[in-house]
Amino acid sequence: MSFPIKGFLETSFVDWPGKVASVIFLSHCNFRCPYCHNYDLVLHPDQLPTIPFEQVIQQIKKYKGWVDGVCITGGEPTLFPALVQLIEQLRNEHMLIKLDTNGSRPEVLKKLIDNHLVEHVAMDVKAPLNQESYSNCCGVSVDLEKIKGSIDLLRKTFISYEFRVTAVPTLLKKENLLMLANELKGSEKLTLQNFNPEHPLDPGLKNIKPYTDQEIEEMQEEMNQILKGSNKSEGSAFFYSKPATRNL
Ligand code: SF4
Repeated sequence: MSFPIKGFLETSFVDWPGKVASVIFLSHCNFRCPYCHNYDLVLHPDQLPTIPFEQVIQQIKKYKGWVDGVCITGGEPTLFPALVQLIEQLRNEHMLIKLDTNGSRPEVLKKLIDNHLVEHVAMDVKAPLNQESYSNCCGVSVDLEKIKGSIDLLRKTFISYEFRVTAVPTLLKKENLLMLANELKGSEKLTLQNFNPEHPLDPGLKNIKPYTDQEIEEMQEEMNQILKGSNKSEGSAFFYSKPATRNL
């Protein structure tokens, strides 16, 4: 079986916090986030060479014992019909699996979790959970119920998960980020990522000044407080309860 692997990192210390991971980049995505910096995988995947899986697995074997697992990212990996088969091949090498996703396919996520095929999921939550903000930040019209379905699934699951949001100042003001934190109140983690203007899908963002490190730090702190439920200025969370204990 051929897998659309368009990039491979042998070892990474940043893609799976606390673990050493290899990283597999799969092609295609159903979103068009204006700040996407992997957009060659999204817009022109067929122009990129495919890395043979045999080559990838050889490298993974070489680093076995030193690498804890494999991070599967994209693009949007849940679009790939043979994702289960790919993970099963990696499981044969006793690899833990982390999945990066935009959360648009909760049914795939559920299948992976139910079949114990993934240990950690990082879901990019793009904006506060209303249609206009969300579609603005994704560059396409999004089925928000699917996004909420993925959030709900992760919050109730036994596996480790995190939510992440990328802050472009023109798309997400501080009040939008705090609103999102409030909507996700009780979740394990919501990480604020700064926007990188160097190589965005929408060239119009190249001139946008990102938030400063200090602004990011301060907003992250406020979001953490809201997530823990200790910020009195925010209203109540909307549809979730804190998940039970998890096992990673
Ligand atoms: S979800 Fe957005 S940022 Fe992620 S790969 Fe797709 S277009 Fe890029």
